[in-house]
Amino acid sequence: MSHPIVILGSGQAGTSTVRELRKLNPDVAVTLVSSDDCSFYAKPTLSNALAAGKDAAQLVVTPAAKLAEQLKLTLMPHAQVTSIDIAAKQLITDQGPVAYSALVLANGAHPIRLPLTGSGAADVLSINNLGDYAAFRAALKPGMHVAILGAGLIGCEFANDLRSAEHPVTVFDVAPQPLGRLLPPQAGAFFAEKLAAAGVKFEFATGITQVDRADGAYLLGTADGKQFKADLVLSAIGLKPAVELAAAAGLKTNRGIVVDRKLQTSAPDIYALGDCAEVEGLVLPFILPIMNAARALGKTLAGTPTELSYPAMPVVVKTPACPTVVSPPAMGAAGAWVEEEVETEAGKGVRALFKAPDGTLLGCALLGEASKERQAIAAQLPPVL
Ligand SMILES: Cc1cc2nc3c(=O)[nH]c(=O)nc-3n(C[C@H](O)[C@H](O)[C@H](O)COP(=O)(O)OP(=O)(O)OC[C@H]3O[C@@H](n4cnc5c(N)ncnc54)[C@H](O)[C@@H]3O)c2cc1C
Repeated sequence: MSHPIVILGSGQAGTSTVRELRKLNPDVAVTLVSSDDCSFYAKPTLSNALAAGKDAAQLVVTPAAKLAEQLKLTLMPHAQVTSIDIAAKQLITDQGPVAYSALVLANGAHPIRLPLTGSGAADVLSINNLGDYAAFRAALKPGMHVAILGAGLIGCEFANDLRSAEHPVTVFDVAPQPLGRLLPPQAGAFFAEKLAAAGVKFEFATGITQVDRADGAYLLGTADGKQFKADLVLSAIGLKPAVELAAAAGLKTNRGIVVDRKLQTSAPDIYALGDCAEVEGLVLPFILPIMNAARALGKTLAGTPTELSYPAMPVVVKTPACPTVVSPPAMGAAGAWVEEEVETEAGKGVRALFKAPDGTLLGCALLGEASKERQAIAAQLPPVL
């Protein structure tokens, strides 16, 4: 009897791959191995769950047993994968070895931890899965002042969400503006102003280096001696693809697990997608790239080798205080941002377009009223891959 296709990880990448495969092959044996309980939830809902009035359990979309039944899966929940034995075609787990005919690595990313000092450094929370969110909700008491380290997409979304539940929030960043990697200056200033109007306090050009416990709360300190008080500290400074298992097995890794356009790693029969993977130099930890990759990989696993291509994939930033859509230009693309204020009867916005020297549109950031132009502008953007 041949071995099953084994999927490592029950996040968006792992489950979407099985869904796509099942559309084409209802019968091939598939085993899903995960350190979590294998229930499916939509990770983007973690950063607007307070406004939606949902706790961690209510965010589950498909409980594990239902997922197994719907997709004809053998599940291995709460199984920690410790290594990959490529020669023997086995995944080694704390529940024993699992033999595979093909292996899909969909094991996500780790939150980056700042090298903080101080008695409260280990209490700093980060939220990258349902369990993290449950721990955050258990710690969050009404009215608590939350400090967020990092004014990127996830930090700003949590800040806006916490404001919707009336929590005082201060967001710290070493950069001079929010969403520094995604927004040019005028757009950044507009975004900061809108979130500030909703009650989010920003401390820019401020790098927190120390967190100390102080009378049931925390004192956050900078290298130049500034101090801030908060009741809870959340770190949202970015994610690092989980490459350790792949690297230890001898697979090629760079920033992520290196795959070709068929999502194949440097070993035959081992594929990778999602937050852990790097396709032609691109690490794109977002839902739309994962859905595109899962469609291609589902076909490949069903017997039709298929190359991945990415259309333009604008990201909607879930900050109701400032509706925002971003599609950054490729790293190192030649060109410049052109920013314009937009005003309609309904309010103001900023339209920022990144154009090549010949005028071709390569990226955009659409804020406030300009976010309503999303479809028309996205249609002019070039494919990502
Ligand atoms: C708060 C938040 C909000 C977001 N909002 C948006 C948004 O609005 N739009 C958007 O496009 N993207 C958003 N993203 C990004 C998007 O959610 C992720 O890109 C996507 O969910 C990643 O899916 P994944 O399957 O690659 O990884 P994960 O969901 O992290 O899944 C990894 C899986 O691997 C398992 N695993 C890992 N290591 C092991 C091991 N050693 N042994 C066994 N199992 C293991 C884990 O248990 C898990 O099941 C957001 C992310 C966050 C954190």
